[in-house]
Amino acid sequence: MHSSNTACFLDFDHTLFNTDDFFHVDVRNAFLHLGIDAAYWEQSYAAVWPTGYTLEKHAEEVYRRSGSKLPLDAMKRILQNSFSDLRRYLFPDVLPFLQTAKKNGVRLYLLSFGSDEWQRYKVTASHLGSYFDDIFFTPAQGGKAKLIQEHADKIPQEALVVDNNPNELDLIKDAAPGIQTYYMNRVPDDLRSPSDDLSRRKFLEARRYLGEIPRHRHTRCKSLDSIAFEVKSANKVGGSHP
Ligand SMILES: [Mg+2]
Repeated sequence: MHSSNTACFLDFDHTLFNTDDFFHVDVRNAFLHLGIDAAYWEQSYAAVWPTGYTLEKHAEEVYRRSGSKLPLDAMKRILQNSFSDLRRYLFPDVLPFLQTAKKNGVRLYLLSFGSDEWQRYKVTASHLGSYFDDIFFTPAQGGKAKLIQEHADKIPQEALVVDNNPNELDLIKDAAPGIQTYYMNRVPDDLRSPSDDLSRRKFLEARRYLGEIPRHRHTRCKSLDSIAFEVKSANKVGGSHP
């Protein structure tokens, strides 16, 4: 069957998961109740993120800058108590897309940038594990292309990748020119230029990728629905030639 020969690589943050709503709105608000300084919190996040985020690194960085020790145990308790089920942060098209893809025999791979521990927490708490044939985390920027290259022998003729970061897509296209690349933009048009601090933090990071100019041509999309259509039609073609 045509589509069982299809592999789909999906990014997690800002593609499947509304990381900004989770982290820069809800987690931040919960932590600020502990008396954490909002400005140090945000600056320190920006400093540690490129190395692969962990809560420990973030707390250390706040301490280095401000001299105040963060209540790490209390923060972890908040995550365990209020953020153990993160399904509410999945974009609404995600589960239908994964279910359709699985039904059509598409092989699903999660390719996610960040530290293993933090990414695994979010993916596990989103209850996504069972949909994927394999899950990869890489703490290196550009590491996704390397992962795809390493697994090139397992990649079928038809492969597609969805990511909100055009730089990752460019590197993937360099490594695997035959792969179909989708450049995901989850930022609603009315939140592209935020008018207040809450709308700034909603899509805070997702917004940063919108102005980048990719080197390669990627199919732009605002949801997974258009991709699901192509997966389905690929299946139909296969079905009409048994
Ligand atoms: Mg992402």
